[in-house]
Amino acid sequence: MTDTRHTKLLIIGSGPAGYTAAVYGARAMLEPLMVQGIQPGGQLTITTEVENWPGDTMTTGPELMQRMEAHARAMGTDIVTDHIAKLDLSARPFTATGDSGTTYTADAVILATGAQAKWLGLPSEERLQGMGVSACATCDGFFYRGKEVAVVGGGNTAVEEALFLTNFASKVTLIHRRDSLRAEKIMQDRLFRNPKVEVLWDHTVAEILGGDGGAGVTGLRLAHARTGAERTLPCDGVFIAIGHSPATELVRGQVEMHHGDYVKVKPGSTETSVPGVFAAGDVTDHVYRQAVTSAGMGCMAALDAERFLAAQGADAPVDPTLADAPA
Ligand code: FAD
Ligand code: NAP
Repeated sequence: MTDTRHTKLLIIGSGPAGYTAAVYGARAMLEPLMVQGIQPGGQLTITTEVENWPGDTMTTGPELMQRMEAHARAMGTDIVTDHIAKLDLSARPFTATGDSGTTYTADAVILATGAQAKWLGLPSEERLQGMGVSACATCDGFFYRGKEVAVVGGGNTAVEEALFLTNFASKVTLIHRRDSLRAEKIMQDRLFRNPKVEVLWDHTVAEILGGDGGAGVTGLRLAHARTGAERTLPCDGVFIAIGHSPATELVRGQVEMHHGDYVKVKPGSTETSVPGVFAAGDVTDHVYRQAVTSAGMGCMAALDAERFLAAQGADAPVDPTLADAPA
């Protein structure tokens, strides 16, 4: 038997954007229902230290996300373990179908589906995934005690992954396609100071080597970014940390997108091109992509949804703080 549940406000995703929207939505008496997805807590659950969440000089990603979940629950959000497989935004109430078989109907939807790790797109990368190719050092770093590993990328994630891996590996080579990193300076300083780290500038990965006879990764075939000259780097594992793509499959063709698949919102708001559908966090942000900015947008989305529902005549009281907000 299929189950159908109706909610005034459906929040899809349980990262900082989703939980903040849930706190604000619940306090506005919208009785939000949140579907957590396959990564409850979102991207921060796969990192260790977080040093830039205001109010916490140092916390960990998993700990911070547990606190956000507890906060959202305490305010009255109905949090459901499910993953939305299909979303129909063509008519209101909107309809979402979960992997569990439950159908969710909603007067308003907040998309907070965040982003997922990008891959290089090499056949050898796909073939060796789980056999030495990973996109998560906190998940797999432990397997490389005393071994040599490589990290690909030049952003904050790559530098963090490289530094974390020095806790286990005997040597970490960071491979970047340019001659300067885009990671924050404080992170770069830590990286350059670490004696276990070597940075290989101006190189790309042409092929991940290994897999013969059931063996894992044995090395990388690298190409110089400008000359094309090739060299081989022996290593036991490689961590791909080249950024993230917005998780927008659910709404492709249904809402306007821009900047390569990010959901487009009206400037200064979280309104998408479909009235009643709001977007917050990494799914719409191609610039900042931080926990705190995602949380800020989650707050905006709940306030925008509240105002939308009030205008529709749904029994949503309008928050007085919205009186001066742009229409
Ligand atoms: P996400 O955290 O990406 O969460 C997305 C949520 O959507 C997940 O819960 C997922 O399960 C859910 N979802 C996706 N699809 C569906 C679906 N179809 N149905 C239901 N649910 C779905 N930022 C900082 O500010 N400080 C840091 O120290 C920091 N460290 C980081 C370290 C790493 C390794 C990474 C990868 C990122 C880091 N970031 C950091 C960036 C930060 O994690 C993101 O900006 C932030 O998590 C984005 O929040 P979000 O709520 O938009 O989405
Ligand atoms: P990012 O900032 O987009 O960096 C991606 C890196 O990968 C870039 O250096 C890029 O090179 C490289 N790259 C992209 N495609 C590549 C390819 N095909 N081959 C080789 N290299 C490739 O992504 P991110 O590091 O995952 O960070 C995402 C967001 O999360 C950022 O906003 C970041 O600040 C945030 N974050 C924050 C923290 C923190 O605050 N401590 C930690 C992690 C992430 P180019 O430089 O040449 O473009």
